Amino acid sequence: MTRLSRLLLPTERQPPADAEAVSHQLMVRAGLVRQMGAGLWSWLPAGWRAHQRVVGIIREEMERIGAQETLMPLLQPAELWRRTGRYDAIGPELFRLHDRREADMVLAMTHEEAMTHHVAQVVRSYRDLPFSLFQFQVKERDEARPRAGVLRTREFVMKDAYTFDRDEAGLQAHYETYREAYRRVYDRSGLRWYEVESDTGMMGGKRAHEYMAPCAAGEDEVVLADGGAAYAANVEVATADAPFAALPEAPGAPDPVSTPGTTTIAALAAHLDREPSALLKAFPVVVERGEGTQPETVLVLLRGDHEVVEVKLAKALGGTVRQATEDEIRDRIGPPGFLGPIGTDVPVVLDAAVDAQVRAQPSGGWVVGANETDRHLDGVVPGRDFSYEVADVRKVVAGDTVDGVPVTIEPAIEVGNIFQLMTRYSEPMGATFLDEEGKEHPIVMGCYGIGPARILAAAVEQYHDDRGIAWPKAIAPFEIEVVALGKPGGEEGAVAERLYDELRAAGFDVLLDDRPGGAGQKLTDAELLGAPLRITVGKRSLAEGRAEAQIRRGQQDVEGGLPLDGIVDAVRELWERVP
Ligand code: ATP
Ligand code: MG
Repeated sequence: MTRLSRLLLPTERQPPADAEAVSHQLMVRAGLVRQMGAGLWSWLPAGWRAHQRVVGIIREEMERIGAQETLMPLLQPAELWRRTGRYDAIGPELFRLHDRREADMVLAMTHEEAMTHHVAQVVRSYRDLPFSLFQFQVKERDEARPRAGVLRTREFVMKDAYTFDRDEAGLQAHYETYREAYRRVYDRSGLRWYEVESDTGMMGGKRAHEYMAPCAAGEDEVVLADGGAAYAANVEVATADAPFAALPEAPGAPDPVSTPGTTTIAALAAHLDREPSALLKAFPVVVERGEGTQPETVLVLLRGDHEVVEVKLAKALGGTVRQATEDEIRDRIGPPGFLGPIGTDVPVVLDAAVDAQVRAQPSGGWVVGANETDRHLDGVVPGRDFSYEVADVRKVVAGDTVDGVPVTIEPAIEVGNIFQLMTRYSEPMGATFLDEEGKEHPIVMGCYGIGPARILAAAVEQYHDDRGIAWPKAIAPFEIEVVALGKPGGEEGAVAERLYDELRAAGFDVLLDDRPGGAGQKLTDAELLGAPLRITVGKRSLAEGRAEAQIRRGQQDVEGGLPLDGIVDAVRELWERVP
């Protein structure tokens, strides 16, 4: 149905009261989506058209690299998830339920278990490998904070894909093919995007990349050098060089200084008249490294102007990490607010930014807590005065450099990601193959996700103005909107019908605004909905045998409009210029 008079397109002048993100506001106002409950969204006809255009692009690119489409259940036996340990490892994000026979079930939040289960049943020999499977299937996740319309919902369609190879070299090759396919998907969608290195997180495995669309509503942060050309990484894994702190020369030994009540970096910096970067703050943590090991208290030291990234810290310490409690701190190190590395037997981890400066300027003196109330030590030299291990645990900040190039940090939405899983799932699921000698090996896997809804929301975030959405032409709900002005039954309407038929016959995806009603309302709705090209049939241009045309992005009027005779050729030519 592509006549507006018959299309369910409930446009609104006002955004929903709770909508902060522009994409949330505009997608509701344009009549694309409607909310049903917390994190639960329905797609209305125009919204679903856009969604399915993204799906179409992804499907073409998956098929181009030889991936095979499947569909696996959303409702799954808990047993599958017990085998990989994820039934217990995943918190309340996983929906758990029972069937009528009281069997434990889950609603799948991802499909590694399902895919690997079937592959384990059917693959026997190295001759069956490699291959890759994908699907478009709903995922259910009881997200802690559903937000921003369709950006983070509790139910969403994902394209998830999985590769199966006999060895790591096979996985690497497959992984590179997927990177190419992903690049094409985002390019074709018309997004501005970056590929960044990312953390492998709960998926386990080796390497991972994320695809990030920069925009204000983004929950992630990406670190970019040279706009992403020289370096791009999620802030959770990014590393960069910090400009050195200004340090005084250290005396021959640490110098105790009285610092009454200065339990914060700001207070200490003011009291000593030193920059926060010259002070070392202590971050006491407890690391748990799994069964059979004792939790360990570790004192992390970093510059006063730097922050810890928990993902980096957990990786560096090789376990799960929590902040030590006050009691643990008093017990094992000293009074909170005055903690330091000297006079404690707790292992010390020094952030790499500090270590880099210690190596370059061994005589610089730092300030640390004295493990005594109201006292710090000045002129401290790491290595001389205390021993430590080095780890990069801090958050990169704007102005740091990568290979000498300063970085910026931008908020971004994750629109997809890819992981090298290795044998994380094939081993517990028994997905193995026999090699040429009849020896059994676990299959080496990768997994690859994209959220079409996020691609749409990211596009709206990136391409809009105060009048509405300015869709990229590849994923717009309609490519062209033909607006008939004038009275119902008038000549404008008849001509608009003709253009609509001709353009559709030529293969364009056209919406005809054939509603009775004023020009104001029609043009306002067209701008809100954001078809990349609008053709308006009104009295004045009609008299000259022409229709008005406007490219939505930047609201560029086509000078002189388009000729009614031969409109298809004229639109085809113009279409090349439409972003
Ligand atoms: P995030 O870190 O944003 O929670 P994720 O790492 O959990 O994402 P994956 O499990 O790898 O995401 O899912 C693959 C893709 O599915 C993501 O890149 C994203 O495009 C999409 N996606 C993930 N969670 C949601 C959600 N709650 N709502 C909409 N899309 C989502
Ligand atoms: Mg998530």
